[in-house]
Formats: sequence, C-alpha cells, structure tokens
Amino acid sequence: MPALPSLISMMSQLVASPSISCSQAHWDQSNKGVIQLLESWLSSQGFQCEVMPLPDQPNKFNLIATLGTGDGGLVLAGHTDTVPYDKGRWKSDPFKLEERDQKLYGLGSCDMKGFFAIVLDTVRHMQLSDVKQPLIILATADEESSMSGARALVDQNKIKARYALIGEPTSLTPIYAHKGIMMERIQVTGQAGHSSNPSLGNNALDAMHAVMSELMIFRQQLKANYRDASFVIDYPTMNFGCIHGGDNPNRICGRCELEFDLRALPGMSNQALMAEIAQILPRIEEKTGTIIQLSSLFADVPSFYTPIESDIIKACEALTNRQASTVAFATEGSFLNQLGMETLILGPGSIDQAHQPNEFMALDQIQPMQEVIRGLIERFCLQTNEQKNEEQRA
Ligand SMILES: [Zn+2]
Repeated sequence: MPALPSLISMMSQLVASPSISCSQAHWDQSNKGVIQLLESWLSSQGFQCEVMPLPDQPNKFNLIATLGTGDGGLVLAGHTDTVPYDKGRWKSDPFKLEERDQKLYGLGSCDMKGFFAIVLDTVRHMQLSDVKQPLIILATADEESSMSGARALVDQNKIKARYALIGEPTSLTPIYAHKGIMMERIQVTGQAGHSSNPSLGNNALDAMHAVMSELMIFRQQLKANYRDASFVIDYPTMNFGCIHGGDNPNRICGRCELEFDLRALPGMSNQALMAEIAQILPRIEEKTGTIIQLSSLFADVPSFYTPIESDIIKACEALTNRQASTVAFATEGSFLNQLGMETLILGPGSIDQAHQPNEFMALDQIQPMQEVIRGLIERFCLQTNEQKNEEQRA
C-alpha cells in the first residue's frame, strides 16, 4: 500500500485546508479541500470512496469510504467543517498546526479534523485485508451550521451499518444522549399610530407581552412534566434570546419579533412541541386583534439517545474504562440513529477547547483514542459472528 503521511502531517494538511461553514454567507466556505485529502488517503488504504455532493449546495460534499461488505459493520464519523474564528485572538495562525506544551493548536484540531488523522493513522497499522464486516469512514459537510450533510444522508438513505461512532471531542468519555435544539421566531403584527390615542393603532408589544406570558406558563409545564436525571440540567429548557419591536415612545408599536430556543429531552418530539406552541397563538390573536406568526430560524436537531445496553456503548465503556454519560451540545447522532445505526459519541480533545481561539488537541488524547478505534474495529469488523458469540459465552 502507498505510504500515508505521518499523523501530524495529515492533521496539519487538514487544518491548513479551510472549511468554515456558517449561516453568514461571507464566512461560508467549501469543504472540498478536506474531502479531497481524505479521499486520496482512504483510497490509498483500499477504501472505496464515494464523494456525495449535497443537493442545492454545489460546494459542499460528504465522503463515504467503505472497506468490505456485509450487513453489520461500523461507521467512524466526523464532520469536515469548522466554525469561524476570531482573527485577533489567536496566538498563532489558526490554519497552521503548531505544537506547544504537549498540545497541537489549530482551527479544527479537536473539533474535529484531528479525529480523521487519528483514524487514518490507526487503520494503517491494522491488518484489514479480510474484514468480515464493513468499516466505513464517514466525513460530513456543514455540521456546524445546518447539519445539511447528515440530513442529506437520511434523505437519500445513504449509509448502512450496525454501529456508529462520532468522534466529537468528549475527552474520551462515551456519550449516549443529548437534548434536541429548536430555534424559533414569533412575529406579532399590529398597527402603528400616534401614541396620544390608543385607538389609532394596535400595539404589537402589548400582544407580545401576552405571548411571552403564555410561553412562560408552557415552559413551566414542560419543566413540571418532563425530567431526565441523566442530564445536569434535567428538564427541557426554553430561552428567550432576543426581542425587537417598535421605534419611538410616541408611536404605537406596529411590529414585534421574539426569538427563542427550546431544548427537548430524549423521548420528546420537536414537532409535537411546535404544534403545542402553535396552538397557543390563535387565542392571543383573537384577544388582541393582531396577526401572530411562528417560524423556524433553523431546521431543528432532534434529541439523541442510544440505549445504554447497546453493544457499542458497552464496548466503549470497557475500552475507556468510563461510564457512558450525556452532553449539553448537539451532534449528528440522531441522524445516524435514524439511518438504523446504534450510535455513540466519543472522541479525543475537550469541547471546552472547541469553538474557541487557540483551539487545541492535547497530545495525550491521541494514543488512548487509537486504542478505542482499534478495539472497535477488531470487535465489529474483524470478528466473525461465531467468534463474537463465543466471546459472549466466555
Ligand atoms: Zn464538532
């Protein structure tokens, strides 16, 4: 097989290939460079590579690299994009991987280009010529903005395996659940007019006050009715994030907008929550004579949950010697679960360093992660079913 670059060289090349994804167009970049690097390295190791362009996004691609066939198997997944960066606040060039104090600094070093370099460096040292079940490396686009890469996989029913690991930075702790995220806007339209006579208009701020009061009652009900002790914040949350309305004290406010997020627990349906909120609004419209519209700022991310009895969770608990836990951030996990895979989140580096200036991956995270990857590949791709059964009996 052709030689792969060293782990550090692969990580450097991935970091040096900008792939910012952002809902603000002036930041948003193609991820093509990262996909091409991964494709060439994975092809050199015998993987069949499919580069999948995203519908309606000509500059964005997923990569599905497959070794072997079968109805079981393992997906090692990550995203190719990074968040934007604060130029003045980096001590070094964010696109130049730099080692200082046993840490590798660079944009995407821990979230999560470094993961791909670690996977490739692990795979190269393994004897994979007769895999019994497929090993699939999945690299997605736009996780940090719209998750459109993972959504496209679900829409096209693209990928099939029994188990999946997403290598997001969890400091090597296996993660089996996180909350969902919805970001919504409520727009109240009244009628502007001179403030001296209330009957000359219809005040949108007054109506928004009623909307917020009702939402706060709804929030209280959610908190009373849903609990999950596996989360630090063990109830669903709703945060009013910003409000804009009106322009002058002597004008009746004609229009007001509120934006909020809602983070549901596993087992709760985002769609059902939206429907419940939508039901509250007509009553207020009727009472106030305004028009009230509810819309989503972004497509929602469903909550993520894989039963802790799942083989992959048990295997990762054994390999890391840590109990599976939950996190406060969202991932592509629920989309991979929708594709029928038992998915867990486990990766090198800490989320505390992600989305920050001077992002780094600590060097001491690399070897333990390689042991996890090797252990999972051995168990889910190299063993025959008989061997697995025997092991379970033993
Ligand atoms: Zn990430």
